[in-house]
Amino acid sequence: MNAAAQFESVTQVFGDFTAVDGIDLAIPAGKLTTLLGPSGCGKTTSLRMLAGYTRPTSGRILIDGVDATRTPPEKRGLGMVFQSYALFPHMTVAENVAYGLKLRGMGRRERDVHATESLELVGLAHLAQRRPRALSGGQQQRVALARAIAIRPKLLLLDEPLSNLDARLRVQMRAEIRRIQHETGLTVVLVTHDQDEALEMSDEMVLMRAGRIMQQGAPSDVFSSPANRFVADFLGYENFVQTAEGLVTVRPEHVVVVAGSAPAPGGLSLPGTVRDIAYRGVDILTTVEAEGPEPILLRSHVRAEGAPRLTPGQAVTVTARASHLIPVTD
Ligand code: ATP
Repeated sequence: MNAAAQFESVTQVFGDFTAVDGIDLAIPAGKLTTLLGPSGCGKTTSLRMLAGYTRPTSGRILIDGVDATRTPPEKRGLGMVFQSYALFPHMTVAENVAYGLKLRGMGRRERDVHATESLELVGLAHLAQRRPRALSGGQQQRVALARAIAIRPKLLLLDEPLSNLDARLRVQMRAEIRRIQHETGLTVVLVTHDQDEALEMSDEMVLMRAGRIMQQGAPSDVFSSPANRFVADFLGYENFVQTAEGLVTVRPEHVVVVAGSAPAPGGLSLPGTVRDIAYRGVDILTTVEAEGPEPILLRSHVRAEGAPRLTPGQAVTVTARASHLIPVTD
């Protein structure tokens, strides 16, 4: 893999708290990599170390194969976009976008060309002369993106850039960022705690927990073969069952609940009682308490059409095909 950046045994300790715990990570060049995980797992700290805002307690950070651990942020050639847009209110959109170029000593004409190009890339060239306050939240976020791209960064770092946008705009901007990444071939590192966002946007997904990397890979690989219970749980595998062969997980979409007792042709087959049924138009979500040494709740999420009519309290069997059972470590 051609790595645009690498973390080598990188640790960040704040007081007696280890926020990032000896991570090794290669960021593939020309791809979009997401750092994904629950709040506090060390995503932002990792990104800040990559940007140079925080120096690792130990370990090295390489950019383009060169040790950049002690390089100050402005010398790293990176573009950043944060959750808050932080645009200059007294400058026009064009001036905001050109600001970083001016700092780098670029002449006026060249600045204008670069700024216009970046604004065209985010579809805002027609608003170049407006002030930020005359733009919607989504437009402001695009300006922030254009500003980060204008300097032609080696790496574009995005820290939860969509979390202040409403749900529809957020989904639209996911596609937009992907398109921009494709068109520019930029290496992008995006921090998010939203698994859908990560699955949809990433070429490479890095799942973190408590300062460590739990799994890294293409979204489809991580999704279909979660390495452990934490990853599975985070990606929506709601069912965990202890079998003779060890712990297995199965997605609610692959669990079918049938009335009464049913033969078990391989796969999962557990007797239980319906505890809850939620109709959601096209889908039905059924919660069953399965019998066992310790009663467990199992969830089924299937299409309503053709699903058997069940009622709470009914005796049922929870089934899943063997091919849908994924062994996981606890
Ligand atoms: P979130 O999604 O909530 O931003 P995160 O995964 O990005 O979470 P970080 O911001 O990297 O997490 O923080 C990891 C841990 O390090 C948190 O428990 C946080 O409180 C702690 N932390 C971060 N920065 C500092 C600091 N400057 N001083 C002390 N503790 C810090």
